[in-house]
Amino acid sequence: MKTCTALIVAAGSGQRFGGAIPKQYQPLVGIPILRRSVMAFLNHPKITNVHVVINPAHRALYDEATAGLDIPPPISGGSTRQESVWKGLQALSNNRPDYVMVHDAARPFIDAATISAVYTALETCPGVLAARPVVDTLKRVNGKLVESTVDRSHLWQAYTPQSFHFDVIYAAHDKASTQPDVILTDDAAVAENAGIPVTIIPSNPENMKITNPEDMDRAARLLGQGYNDIRTGMGFDVHRYEAGDAIILGGVKIPHNRKLEGHSDADAVLHALVDAMLGAMGLGDIGKFFPPSDPQWKGCGSAVFVRAAVQKLSERGGLIANVDITLMCEAPKIGPHRDAMQTRIAELLEIKPDRVNVKATTTERLGFAGREEGLACHALVTLRFPG
Ligand code: MG
Repeated sequence: MKTCTALIVAAGSGQRFGGAIPKQYQPLVGIPILRRSVMAFLNHPKITNVHVVINPAHRALYDEATAGLDIPPPISGGSTRQESVWKGLQALSNNRPDYVMVHDAARPFIDAATISAVYTALETCPGVLAARPVVDTLKRVNGKLVESTVDRSHLWQAYTPQSFHFDVIYAAHDKASTQPDVILTDDAAVAENAGIPVTIIPSNPENMKITNPEDMDRAARLLGQGYNDIRTGMGFDVHRYEAGDAIILGGVKIPHNRKLEGHSDADAVLHALVDAMLGAMGLGDIGKFFPPSDPQWKGCGSAVFVRAAVQKLSERGGLIANVDITLMCEAPKIGPHRDAMQTRIAELLEIKPDRVNVKATTTERLGFAGREEGLACHALVTLRFPG
């Protein structure tokens, strides 16, 4: 039997400072996505060994996700997928397998039958691509106007594994590494660039790439578990006005004839939001994690608190269903800044803006908000967890 290495590419970052942990390390119904992908190959009789390419900054996440699996230490990847695969192939070159199957870590549903079919095809072809025929009708558009219907009968979507005779793809990547101007987004393109014939093998349809939160939901359903454990949290915050010329709400700077007093940037919207998220997770409140007595949070942008809450959510494998925010203030007028706030909050939460609503009300000049001594903010957050 020919030796065949599975090279799992997990070096994608997808992570901004403090935000959600990268998808491949997130739990999918209790098991990290990367671990599921590794195990699909590890358990296959035709696969000799499994190597994983990672971003070295994620080593701790990697160790946790692969604990107890019989695989060698990870290979350090590069800044692009192409570079990561090339580094992976170089690392394997001391102990060259006959075949290599390059697979995205974020495709945990690759099945044994597809791996077998790819292996069989490799016995007669130097390059084999797992793919799915395009089923939707395709339109070529100019702006928003349809120009024509594209013939889809020859179009396939490239999945992974993308598999090759090792020496052939090694030479192709070696060539591509000397062509900095040629952008090659997958290994089949690297092979094409070197004139290597690549054969299509139909993949199992479930072998999708998990890219965004909606995909997590679909993936959990494939495992027979929807995100049906629904939890709601509420947050409330008040800040007092003092002399100044602008306030920060929902991460957006709004010119005003006063500013909000507070230890951090006094962003009552983000504070209420973080409290609502922590509340829904049963984790207490913002003061527990970022005590005002701690000087390191002085003047701190509240985005840091939101990202920490997002990280706690992703560690727990949860998704945000929606966020609804109500500001209580006489002035400034919130309407002109609403879209910017919704966009910024969605960005911080790594969700689509249509899951975020920001609204404002006056208190009919009653109470502290009515007297413009300060403003208040309510936030409601609904989270979904598998179960
Ligand atoms: Mg506050």
